Amino acid sequence: MSLVTQNLSVAERNSSVAEIRKLINDKERISRGQAKWLWQNANDNELIELASLVRARYHKPDEATYLLMRIINYTNICVAKCDYCSFYRLPLAKDGYVRDKEWIFAKIDELVALGGELFAFNGGFNPQLKIDYYLDLFGSIRQKYGDTIEFYALTVVELLYIARLSKLSLPHALALLKAAGVRWITGGGAEILADSFRLRHSPLKYTVAEYMDAQKEILAAGLKTTATMVIGFDESIDERLDHLETIRQFQDQHPDGLFSFLSWTYKPYNNELGGHEISGEEYLRHLALCRIYLDNFRHIRASVLTQNANALRGLKYGANDFDIPWEDEVTQLAGAVIERDVQRILGYAQAEGFKTIARHVASGKSPVS
Ligand code: SF4
Repeated sequence: MSLVTQNLSVAERNSSVAEIRKLINDKERISRGQAKWLWQNANDNELIELASLVRARYHKPDEATYLLMRIINYTNICVAKCDYCSFYRLPLAKDGYVRDKEWIFAKIDELVALGGELFAFNGGFNPQLKIDYYLDLFGSIRQKYGDTIEFYALTVVELLYIARLSKLSLPHALALLKAAGVRWITGGGAEILADSFRLRHSPLKYTVAEYMDAQKEILAAGLKTTATMVIGFDESIDERLDHLETIRQFQDQHPDGLFSFLSWTYKPYNNELGGHEISGEEYLRHLALCRIYLDNFRHIRASVLTQNANALRGLKYGANDFDIPWEDEVTQLAGAVIERDVQRILGYAQAEGFKTIARHVASGKSPVS
């Protein structure tokens, strides 16, 4: 997506930036129109400055938190057929799989030995796996590891699929998952929350209303959840703003309901959609815009998984937290190259002037934050 600079005089431009700066300094909110204006007209330094003002409401300017985590892909069988996906295999495909508990425990043990404590499960819409599979898996993990680790059990869209496949209402499915020891669902499967985008690329992956209703039910069930976004397909700036507006409104209605916001970038290899990757600069500008617009989110996270060292530059563009991911087949198959040198990744953040602090999510290890 190219930066479209309107034909403004220097004085007009500066006055618009000054107006937005004043709003932010007064802790007032910028409008959707102003967000679009910033995207099209603000230079990087202005975005950094404005994002830093919002970031400073929640976090010390020179500190960033991180955690070591692994995504566990428990099945690659999926019937949603999103055209941007490099990961899925249809049922009966020779290289389709469903992982058993021993395989999953070994993945957990390996990262625990390295000091990791967060695991995010991500699979597909597998018509063979009804809720019993998940209750057994998550219940067994909680029984074996107790509170020494934490896990993001499902994405919002997997939850929707599993509940329908199992002929359960969402509240009922969530109550069963909670009883099995699940505490977190994540906002995965959002990509771009604009129905126009979803119709083009993932018509079987639920509408925006279905997705947001599920987020509401997750909170009503007493579970935690997050917000995510993926950019760099063929979405327009208006579709990106649809997404940001939807989650900002949701967060207004459910204060701090969405624990964090994480945006990562589309990888265009080995899938039907193809295309090319957006630039690192575009990602950073987007990050800054999100920090400015999502003024009711405490945590804005940078994506080391898809941006590597560039993600740590994102700490200057408003992010305050990042994962160090050990593995994620979904993005790796699409072209992501994971860097596993923890000290080097922390070094990137430190080189940007940030003190890095490990964030603990397992309640058995330290206070949850
Ligand atoms: S992105 Fe997720 S839901 Fe879509 S095809 Fe891939 S695995 Fe299935």
